[in-house]
Amino acid sequence: MKIAIITLGCKVNQYESGAIKEELIKNGYGVTLNLEPADLYILNTCAVTGIAEKKSRAHVAKIAKLNPNAKVIVCGCASEHNKEQFLKKPNVSAVIGNAGKNKIAQILNQVGNLSTIIPLDYEDFVCHTTSRTRAYLKIQDGCNNFCSYCLIPYVRGRSRSRDLKSVVAEATELSKTNKEIVLTGIDMSDYRIDGKLAFKELMEALRDNPCRIRISSLECGIVTPELLETLKSMPNFCPQFHLSMQSGCNKILKLMNRHYTKEQFLSKVELIRKYFPNAAITTDVIVGFPTETDEDFAETFETIKQANFYEMHIFPYSKREGTVASKFKMVDGVVVNNRVKILEELNAQNKAKYIQNQSEVLQCLTESIEDSYVVGYTENYIKIYLPKTAPLHEFVNVKNLTLFKDGAKAKIA
Ligand code: SF4
Repeated sequence: MKIAIITLGCKVNQYESGAIKEELIKNGYGVTLNLEPADLYILNTCAVTGIAEKKSRAHVAKIAKLNPNAKVIVCGCASEHNKEQFLKKPNVSAVIGNAGKNKIAQILNQVGNLSTIIPLDYEDFVCHTTSRTRAYLKIQDGCNNFCSYCLIPYVRGRSRSRDLKSVVAEATELSKTNKEIVLTGIDMSDYRIDGKLAFKELMEALRDNPCRIRISSLECGIVTPELLETLKSMPNFCPQFHLSMQSGCNKILKLMNRHYTKEQFLSKVELIRKYFPNAAITTDVIVGFPTETDEDFAETFETIKQANFYEMHIFPYSKREGTVASKFKMVDGVVVNNRVKILEELNAQNKAKYIQNQSEVLQCLTESIEDSYVVGYTENYIKIYLPKTAPLHEFVNVKNLTLFKDGAKAKIA
């Protein structure tokens, strides 16, 4: 039987699809991660925005067109949030939420209308199937923060951390076939050992791993001199900090139920630059959060200018039914789109400025070929385009960056 796993959404979902694939192959199934003809489909859905959820549902129809006889098992966040919407589709056989993901191989023989199970413990759900360069390693799942706009705590459950020994063992395993490990999770800053916050200890435990270690996202509250000392002492740490800001306006941050002010956020950015002057600091911003006025937006704009991010992921606010913010007064769509454009311009300028300011030799890990260029990323996450003679899946020292497409061309140092 050939099974196709279709994945939408975040890196955690991608990691989990990799783990499902590995489990199915172990059980003797043929598996593809592409949307192509297959006997059975596993649709790993996303609910981070209304559009993501709509796209997830649209995939059920796409699958029916590819193979009208194929059955679909739906998992992931959209299936937790809106189980019925999927169950009423004739080609959907089972809707198993997030917790069912690590049981797919077991339940394949009894595909029926399975109910959603809410997980309590961290599900040891391991994926070793990766590219030859960069591997993702999930260390944590769920979230306790209940930001007023976010569905994640409802669809992925409360925060739970993976056992440290299990993380270190997988990192060691991954280092045999990869050169970079990206730590992922829903709220990695909440990583705990025996109930105590322990992200610093986790990083210390990965200090001797031969791979470069990259952190996918952190909350600003976790940034302390102690953590930065630890990171600074790690020869394998990639100086990229993705700190979720969401808004740079104190009124909006409060309404979002984010537990910091713009001043506190900016002080963490400054602290990072004290330890890592050339760090790539990136962020997420939600534009047009309910009640956001022109003045509020101007405040966010000013904060962003001060923070001087290398890159921002800009999201227009998406109303998620069931969240606190869904009851707040929405901002007009045209206004939101204009604000998004303003931030996109600032983003492009900041990104160009950061790339042009690079004067040091950087270490690029090449990972793919795009339009006859060998493409890779530096330790501070600049996308580099090298001539096609450059080695693939290798570290290459680069210098003299010049802006090109979404990154830079560079000379081999
Ligand atoms: S920290 Fe906030 S935005 Fe992030 S997953 Fe948790 S509730 Fe959602």
